[in-house]
Amino acid sequence: MWDGMASSQERILRVNCSRDRTMIQLIRGFKDILPGEVETWQHIENVARALFQDFGFKEIRIPIMERTELFARSIGEDTDIVEKEMYTFPDRKGDLITLRPEATASICRSYVQHKMYAEDPIQKFYTIGPMFRRERPQKGRYRQFYQINVEIFGVLSALADAVLIFLLKTLCERLGVADVEAHVNSLGCPDCRPGFKNRLQTYIASVSQKICADCRRRKDRNPLRVLDCKVPDCRAAMADAPSILDCLCDICRHEFQLLQTTLDGLNVPYVLDKHLVRGLDYYTRATFEFQTRSLGAQSAVAGGGRYDKLVQLLGGPDTPATGFAIGFDRLAEIVQIQGPDLQRKPDLYIAAMGDKSRALAFGWICELGKQGFYAEMDFQDKSLKSQMKRAHRIRASHVLMVGENELRSGSVTLRNMSTKNQDDIPMDRLMEKLVKRLSAEKKPHKEM
Ligand code: AMP
Repeated sequence: MWDGMASSQERILRVNCSRDRTMIQLIRGFKDILPGEVETWQHIENVARALFQDFGFKEIRIPIMERTELFARSIGEDTDIVEKEMYTFPDRKGDLITLRPEATASICRSYVQHKMYAEDPIQKFYTIGPMFRRERPQKGRYRQFYQINVEIFGVLSALADAVLIFLLKTLCERLGVADVEAHVNSLGCPDCRPGFKNRLQTYIASVSQKICADCRRRKDRNPLRVLDCKVPDCRAAMADAPSILDCLCDICRHEFQLLQTTLDGLNVPYVLDKHLVRGLDYYTRATFEFQTRSLGAQSAVAGGGRYDKLVQLLGGPDTPATGFAIGFDRLAEIVQIQGPDLQRKPDLYIAAMGDKSRALAFGWICELGKQGFYAEMDFQDKSLKSQMKRAHRIRASHVLMVGENELRSGSVTLRNMSTKNQDDIPMDRLMEKLVKRLSAEKKPHKEM
């Protein structure tokens, strides 16, 4: 691997020296989040933060890179993520480093490393940030994607799972996202899951001719994954597979029942989905997913569940935990489809003609910006026609016109671009008057 690194560094030098001027494209599976879209992201982030704080969750920020063994140990060696999707490379000392494919393992590492359990075993966190998985890129599936993670440590009761599902539903409601459906299942625990795995393996052996090559490979080491394969033949073959809900031990059954009655009590509708499993090994008991029909094949907007053994697996005390991850990119896509245009438009465009007017206008836009009003102008000499065109294009709500005539007469013209009403305003104490007018007419800006 070191040789590989050396030669890639030589390649970097060669690339830098190149006189090539062709356009450089972003990496496959990565994407830019452009203005126009980014406002939706900011809106989601603000609504999510406010909601999490309403429920007592604290923000935690964890690194983007971790030691590879953190993910290998927690996510599981036999999972798709660890087997083939991680961005792993040696750093200069040869330590293996991985760009985080998910956040839960890091949050657990942090909980253990900083002994947060000593202060209070019950801790509630959220974090927002990018994850990296080298999956096959397609719509709704990226190699750098973003997640909003929420975790509760130290609570064994299914009430904690219920509150997370309720939180997700409330977030969707606050964002005006209607087309989502909660799916819930239990994955059992180390006591009852092995029995189910055996029954499932026997079943899979009976349909092994009908399932895809990936599932045939997975069936021995990770038979649960065959249950959620999206290939139509696999779905058909697994339709009559045994249900884990018939194999749960008494405690798991009781906890799953508690989850359901609590969700009923909270008026959260859900689908009992016996085929719902998670791609990560550390999940136990309650597992859930929020699915939508708005996004085609990539229907999962959020997924989560209980991971009671992970803290211990990472060297901490026996601490139950539960959490979820929202696919930010996917949520943003639905909010963008269903939501309003959140991009901020100028409150005022100043069409200035001539050097003197332009200098005045420049002072005005700075002063208005300072007072919380977004004002635009052209810094270069442009005809009135082209300035009005730009004011239209950027959808300014008002235009202020100032030129030789206005300077002579001592009053400027203010035009409301939606009503087309226009009036003259004397220039003395202009800022004061403008602020008053714009405040009165400004629609309250959408919570950003
Ligand atoms: P997971 O961490 O695999 O349980 O995924 C949680 C959520 O993250 C999923 O429900 C998706 O919404 C989102 N997600 C996972 N992988 C990707 C990806 N490659 N691109 C975009 N979103 C993803």
